[in-house]
Amino acid sequence: MRDQRRAVLKEVAKEYGRTGYNPDRAMTIFGFVAELAEILEKRSNSRRASFAGAHAIKVYEATARKYGYKGEQGPVHCKKGCGYCCHTRVTATALELFMMARGLRARWNDDADPLKARFRRVETQTRGMPKEHWVTNRIPCGFLGEGACTVYDSRPLTCRTYASLSLPACIDWFNLAPGAVVPQPDRAQLLRVFILAGMKAAMAHTGLEGVGFEMGHGLEVAMVPDAEARWLAGENVFAGVANDAAPARAGGRQAGHEAFDLMVDVFKTGAFGKDMPPNPWFSW
Ligand code: SF4
Ligand code: SF4
Repeated sequence: MRDQRRAVLKEVAKEYGRTGYNPDRAMTIFGFVAELAEILEKRSNSRRASFAGAHAIKVYEATARKYGYKGEQGPVHCKKGCGYCCHTRVTATALELFMMARGLRARWNDDADPLKARFRRVETQTRGMPKEHWVTNRIPCGFLGEGACTVYDSRPLTCRTYASLSLPACIDWFNLAPGAVVPQPDRAQLLRVFILAGMKAAMAHTGLEGVGFEMGHGLEVAMVPDAEARWLAGENVFAGVANDAAPARAGGRQAGHEAFDLMVDVFKTGAFGKDMPPNPWFSW
């Protein structure tokens, strides 16, 4: 029965690996989780973390093309050169950080490329800074240059899925206007949560830590040549990097975080388990 399901999920993943998963068909999402876990289980591949990160991003891009937001709630206001949203602290999973490190290593080691120097300027300012200070001081991401992302092809999931339905709301947010909220397409938010929960479910299944790390510091760690292999071998190479694992507030996780944790459990069960926990999204 288990092997049978694995075979079905593999087929599903193969089909949707090309066109993206269908967020309205649970089996395709479970198939994505199973496929990602299979990549992470290939112990002979010492680069399997960055490979899995790149695969998750590829599936996200395919999914967004086919099943993503198509303007139902109005036009997206985002344009190249508009970077108000990049003045905040971004987090990324270890899979994404190793994927980024692999994609950026040549530029990182090239002294003529301003990437590293710009990054270091921001890092010096922000290392150890609480998230709230970063946000309220509107400190730019270390990869923001002339209003545009300088690591566009390697950017993490959070940046890929962020989209605004109102530039004025972004400007209000940037200027710390009280109560400013940036309206985002529901579909974009759904895809972000699904891919992220899928990544975390696959990581949990393979015994890997699925927390989100502060991107800049995390990337610097991931850039160390043997960091990926050491992390895969169980070494806590990200010790000391701020992460989102701590309870969001005294008294426990916020409701949104609890719902996300439940989604990770549901995805894990859908891909590998038997007894689906009660949830508002899927049933067998
Ligand atoms: S989210 Fe807002 S600030 Fe960022 S690119 Fe889009 S419109 Fe500009
Ligand atoms: S990585 Fe790029 S898109 Fe993401 S916050 Fe930084 S500059 Fe913006």
